[in-house]
Amino acid sequence: MQKMIVKLFILLFILTSLSCYANRSGSWFLSNKNKRIYKTSSCNLDKPFPQMVMIPFFKSSSQIIPNCNTYPKHQTAMALMIFYHHWIEYFGDEDLKVKNMLEQVMITWDTKKRTAKRSYNLYGESKEGRDVTGITLTNTTIWVWEGYFHKISESSLMHELVHLALRARNGHGDRDHEGNRFEGWTRLHSELIYEAKETLRSFDI
Ligand SMILES: [Zn+2]
Repeated sequence: MQKMIVKLFILLFILTSLSCYANRSGSWFLSNKNKRIYKTSSCNLDKPFPQMVMIPFFKSSSQIIPNCNTYPKHQTAMALMIFYHHWIEYFGDEDLKVKNMLEQVMITWDTKKRTAKRSYNLYGESKEGRDVTGITLTNTTIWVWEGYFHKISESSLMHELVHLALRARNGHGDRDHEGNRFEGWTRLHSELIYEAKETLRSFDI
């Protein structure tokens, strides 16, 4: 009997240390604490659009969707994870400002592009009346056109997330990108977007 108890203790010890280890290593996007809400919050074909759906694995992140295919919530969750993976690789996130932003983000997907009064291209050239594929609205909300070929990888999601990450870190999103009027966005940020999109493509999303 005593041997049994010792064995049980050893087993318990191993299990708890294993779970502690699992918690420490990258639990930030796999700690699905509000599980029930993620299960109940899903696209409903019988209800009117646009609809709001919670994004699983990210505390209180959500998306406003124009139809059930744009986009399935687990695809959006995967895209956010891929963005964060690359952000950490390029810039780190010691104070977790970017993580906190991602956990509150609200993405509004749209099937049509918009025309902006004034916008900047990647090199900081400003122009009026350009068609835009994404807009950063507040510190945690973005509007994103669904993208070419109906793929997240061919949308501006990664680009808008860089604006939000810069807002979280610097207080403003640097709307002229690589241009010199505002600071924050460097060639590395553009490179990160390219790499993150490549990863999205390899997941076929
Ligand atoms: Zn931009």
